[in-house]
Amino acid sequence: MGRVYTPSEEQFPETADAVVIGGGIVGVATGFWLSHAGLDTVVVEMRDGLSTLTTPESIESFRAQFTEPAMSELVQESIEVFENFADVISIPGYDIDLHHKGYLFVTDDEQMIDEVKAAVETHHELGVNDSEFLTGEEARSRFPFLSETIVAGTFRQKDGWLSTHEATQGFAKGCDAQFVLSTKATDILQDVDGVCGVETTRGTISTRAVVNAAGPFAAEVGQMLGLDLPLEPVRRQKVFLSEQPLVPQDAPLTIDIVRDAYWRPETGGAYIAWVDPDEPVDEDPSEDLYTDPYFAAIVLEKLIKITPFWEEVAKGLKKANVHPSAGYYVYTPDDQPLIGPVPDVPGFLLNCGYWAGVMLSPAAGKRVADLVTGQMDPKENVLRPTRYEEGIVLEGGSFLRGH
Ligand SMILES: Cc1cc2nc3c(=O)[nH]c(=O)nc-3n(C[C@H](O)[C@H](O)[C@H](O)COP(=O)(O)OP(=O)(O)OC[C@H]3O[C@@H](n4cnc5c(N)ncnc54)[C@H](O)[C@@H]3O)c2cc1C
Repeated sequence: MGRVYTPSEEQFPETADAVVIGGGIVGVATGFWLSHAGLDTVVVEMRDGLSTLTTPESIESFRAQFTEPAMSELVQESIEVFENFADVISIPGYDIDLHHKGYLFVTDDEQMIDEVKAAVETHHELGVNDSEFLTGEEARSRFPFLSETIVAGTFRQKDGWLSTHEATQGFAKGCDAQFVLSTKATDILQDVDGVCGVETTRGTISTRAVVNAAGPFAAEVGQMLGLDLPLEPVRRQKVFLSEQPLVPQDAPLTIDIVRDAYWRPETGGAYIAWVDPDEPVDEDPSEDLYTDPYFAAIVLEKLIKITPFWEEVAKGLKKANVHPSAGYYVYTPDDQPLIGPVPDVPGFLLNCGYWAGVMLSPAAGKRVADLVTGQMDPKENVLRPTRYEEGIVLEGGSFLRGH
């Protein structure tokens, strides 16, 4: 059983086979797999709990509907872990509150129909055979809340959502790693052989393997080694609308791919959100993000276009039921994560650059462990951080991005 604690001076671990910086879902999943690979692993988290920064600000959803091969591979493996979570962590009956309510992408733009069809064909080519192309009529007959203007969509019933709290805690409980809280990594030490330790606010941990899973602060951690990592944190807001009887609770996550707005049911209400294309990169990310007072109104205006029942919801909305929050999407030049060793600094690995880190975390963490232990040849890892210098372009060119 993993140990999650705030160490006293005597308890502080002075050595480890591997240290993971960051105890969000990505770092915790990485710690899980490193520990399972037999490494004495310490995950350091500067906050006073695991998954308390970006991860809980997500809408906790997962989908196999990707058109980018590298993302598709990672997410398919991750979903398998989520679907067999209790077995993977060897805790019988462990429940991560998985809901297979589906992901529905819709458009009211006729010009996009071919693109939507092509996306479904690509899903199938990539091994996700159960995503469906829907005409506007088919989509409406299945989901009567959709607007008359919808002309096409893609749907996969087995996509859905889960509890990131339970998944994080499950990964931590299901391994022998130590998860050290309220402990900030302040520097990464090197000698002639590569990394040799992590300096923290509680002391130094000697180690030969360090994984950067610091979420929006991963660039800052890279700078400890003089690295300029290609990471761009962008604030993303969401709103939980509580107590909304007009929201169909059996609906899938429904995404308007024209306006980049989406919603899904959540405990008697709904999450609503919008991926604002004009939101700037935050060069100096913060733990305390602000939310815009009119964000909910802006999103609702967009959602009414694809799901008109939101107009009625908006009319009766009370301030007490509007709960906004914000976290970061961290973009890379091809919108896909950086996973694996940084050859210039032996022993230093990345697991960062996520805008969909919840759904990718299980397989990404496993990949890091496989790379550390030599189970995976770094050349087979197309998400390696050196891909840009190598001239490898991974862009999928798909509209199914950023949700
Ligand atoms: C509105 C919104 C909706 C989203 N919806 C989804 C979704 O439905 N599905 C999905 O897959 N993804 C979604 N995401 C993205 C997802 O939340 C993130 O990609 C994911 O949580 C990243 O996890 P992480 O562990 O890398 O980062 P974090 O959860 O931020 O964890 C990083 C941790 O590192 C710690 N840290 C940083 N620096 C240091 C240091 N120097 N020392 C010690 N600790 C340090 C931080 O305190 C933090 O706890 C959404 C994001 C937002 C904002």
